[in-house]
Amino acid sequence: TWNAVPLAPPDSIFKLTASYKEDTFPQKINLGVGAYRDNDNKPWVLPVVKKATEILLNDPTIDHEYLPITGLPEYTGAAAKLILGEDSPALAEGRVTSVQTISGTGANHLGALFLSRFYEFNGEKKAYLSDPTWVNHFAIFKNVQVEPVTYPYYDPKTIGLAYQPFIDTLKSAPERSVFLLHACAHNPTGVDPTREQWGQIADVILAKGHYAFFDCAYQGFASGDLDRDAWAVREFVKRGVPLLVCQSFAKNAGLYGERVGALHIVAPTQETAQRVKSQLSVLQRSEISNPPAHGARLVSLILNDKKLFEEWKRDIETMAGRIIEMRKELHKLLTEELKTPGNWDHIVNQIGMFSFTGISSEASQALTEKAHVYLTTNGRISMAGLNTHNIRYFAESLDKVVRG
Ligand code: PMP
Repeated sequence: TWNAVPLAPPDSIFKLTASYKEDTFPQKINLGVGAYRDNDNKPWVLPVVKKATEILLNDPTIDHEYLPITGLPEYTGAAAKLILGEDSPALAEGRVTSVQTISGTGANHLGALFLSRFYEFNGEKKAYLSDPTWVNHFAIFKNVQVEPVTYPYYDPKTIGLAYQPFIDTLKSAPERSVFLLHACAHNPTGVDPTREQWGQIADVILAKGHYAFFDCAYQGFASGDLDRDAWAVREFVKRGVPLLVCQSFAKNAGLYGERVGALHIVAPTQETAQRVKSQLSVLQRSEISNPPAHGARLVSLILNDKKLFEEWKRDIETMAGRIIEMRKELHKLLTEELKTPGNWDHIVNQIGMFSFTGISSEASQALTEKAHVYLTTNGRISMAGLNTHNIRYFAESLDKVVRG
């Protein structure tokens, strides 16, 4: 048995981290993986998470029984309000179904699986993904027999949004197509549509009867403001665009390993929402039976306690603020000090954890080979890997490869 199993290549991001770890060069930098690091390049346990952990430890009512199939209700309810807004019309009308998932990845999977089973596809089962996107999106849709196809998103010439080709594809796609949209802080480009552009995207989606599959992995992390980063999702709900949202607390609460996420499906009526929930429960039961409790309890405490919530917002500002500072500093070093050839304004215009530098794959490789700076070959850097100690070395190394 298993003689015919081919050897799969290692995951490229995790492979990058392994190479970084093996490297003994003192000034090495890891700009590959999308996890927050503090100014000393250390993982950061949010102070509010420490407090919530303390509360849980001292709570005599906590046991280790199973959670309900759809998750901890206090958690899913608060998580829905966080993304859709306290005053969401869909929430007020009871049209939202929320299910706790294995972080954002699990939400994407459950959402894709639900569409694969129940969405009335117009012809072939396809989902439109942005070009480029988080690479896992392709595998997630393929796994549930939905064929991933791409729509233009990024324009390498402007290092910005390929707005018109994007709109043209929305218009030319068959009616009722599924479009995956990054709610904020697009991964990997860091390029988001403006509010005006979002409005026009929503108009076309509505006119064509498309379905918006929102992936929101960075709420609060992008701008430092939870509400601002949820704007597009809320605007789409307000306009009546049929949609679902995948939510993750990996980045904004620093709970990567706890796997806290949720899938929210906004249905046209309360009655439909109930039927949707019943089917999501059936799917969830066969996949994971019950979601994990610990992380959901932590997030539930933070979201449902006014003081802890305020403290969390400050922690988010700390993370987003440091990243924004690094963007400004890198931009300054490249443009004012080193006078690196080319335009680097995208470094400060892009948003979130990642920046698409616009450098070629050869230049990316040269950075790794010559300067011990680890990044994906598409030129994407994780801003969280930069800090006041290494940013000058990085800027100088980048300057060198750009000059060739
Ligand atoms: N979607 C996007 C766009 C992401 O960047 C990520 C994290 N890399 C995820 C979903 C899911 O992450 P997690 O499963 O850790 O919540």
